[in-house]
Amino acid sequence: MEITPLNKWIPNLKRPLVIAGPCSAETEEQCLSVARNIVQQEDVRVFRAGIWKPRTRPGTFEGVGEEGLPWLQKVKEETGLLTSCEVATAAHAELALKYGVDILWIGARTSANPFAVQEIADALKGTRVPVLVKNPINADLALWVGAIERIATAGITKIGAIHRGFSTHEKTVYRNRPLWRIPIELKSKIPGLPIICDPSHIAGTRDLIQKVSQKAMDVDFEGLMIETHCNPDEAWSDAKQQVTPGRLSEILSTISVRTEYSHDRNFEQELDDLRDKIDRVDNDLLESLQERMKIVDSIGKAKINANITALQVHRMDELMKKRMQIAEALGLNPQYIKEIYDVIHDHSVKVQTEMMNDSHPNKEEK
Ligand code: PEP
Ligand code: MN
Repeated sequence: MEITPLNKWIPNLKRPLVIAGPCSAETEEQCLSVARNIVQQEDVRVFRAGIWKPRTRPGTFEGVGEEGLPWLQKVKEETGLLTSCEVATAAHAELALKYGVDILWIGARTSANPFAVQEIADALKGTRVPVLVKNPINADLALWVGAIERIATAGITKIGAIHRGFSTHEKTVYRNRPLWRIPIELKSKIPGLPIICDPSHIAGTRDLIQKVSQKAMDVDFEGLMIETHCNPDEAWSDAKQQVTPGRLSEILSTISVRTEYSHDRNFEQELDDLRDKIDRVDNDLLESLQERMKIVDSIGKAKINANITALQVHRMDELMKKRMQIAEALGLNPQYIKEIYDVIHDHSVKVQTEMMNDSHPNKEEK
């Protein structure tokens, strides 16, 4: 998949790329006043505002629609900020292009729907507009990858992903729980794909936004999308999670931005040395596992000869207890060691039952 790096879409980009603006465009004045305030922050490069709002319940504010698109043009003319909005249908995409919106994003409810994504992708064919794909509401990496692929297949190369958390039945402190390993896996599946965090929809409340933004920087995300409103409590949607431009500026000044590489030679040397050590330890670990598997094999043969079962529950309990005692004495996290031993032990039992099956005269097909 061809991906154009973020600094080719946004001139003089500093990390992180900050996209800010209201959840919804409400009035021309509201858009302009947010934009005039946030443009003071040199980190903010893109203005966001929802024009069409996917709402859980009918009868709530569903966005101003096409009427709001000229307001985004005014924001751009007056402040020089790039503009962005969500598109959920081919008609939205066509209108957004007609009014020159610079960056489109596909919302979480839409990216969960392959038909809708395909329609949008078809409408974008032949254009070079950048598209950000939010994660689907459910924690399904393949669905997220699929939505990105549909956009890429339409010939778009300026593609990014937005992590906005996943909905869960369990009650958590988040509105949409972040599962960082999913976007991290996405990054390794699609190398070079810029990933932006939307702490506002993850948090659901203002006070968590700083913490989530910092976490996103710590896992090397390239940008942040933060809902910002001059009068958040009066916002027509997502009032609880929007911050004022002043608070946005505080959040941005307090997060520390880490980069994947450092220019400090001493640090790089120290890191190289430590990584050499880790490589050696991992090598020892793998050799120990190889040794362990040889012993499992010998035990399996002995069990076959003695005609006893592969799994002996009391032995498993005893083994686990002893390992956990050693782990505790070594200061290792018991949960971590338990998970590792569950995998090791399950695999040993599996190997031995397979050996038993193979040694049986009427062996089952695998
Ligand atoms: C939004 O960005 O305002 C929005 C509706 O987000 P999501 O699709 O992540 O719910
Ligand atoms: Mn919102």
